[in-house]
Amino acid sequence: MRFFNHRRHGHIIGSVYLVHFARPYHGAQHYLGFSTNIPQRVKAHRAGRGAPLLAAVTKRGIGWRVVRTWKRKDGYFEQQLKHSYNLRDLCPMCSGPHAHKKGH
Ligand SMILES: [Zn+2]
Repeated sequence: MRFFNHRRHGHIIGSVYLVHFARPYHGAQHYLGFSTNIPQRVKAHRAGRGAPLLAAVTKRGIGWRVVRTWKRKDGYFEQQLKHSYNLRDLCPMCSGPHAHKKGH
């Protein structure tokens, strides 16, 4: 796939995903990530790799799951979401079905 060649992270096309924790960890209850392969990425997170926050949450025995994904996006879109929204407002677990109207 030519997107991967000599491109910065921001230009790679993949999926942005939102993780919701069953209970807050140090005030955080969400994690927003970017990956070209979410199932593989989730496996890595479950194994404690890839993101210090999710590794800590997993270690504490706090359940978490991917509650929302945005397909065919790039790292810039991830940053844009992070800067423009409270992750809670984007989360269908916390904000209900209308959360899906936000962040397109
Ligand atoms: Zn949530």
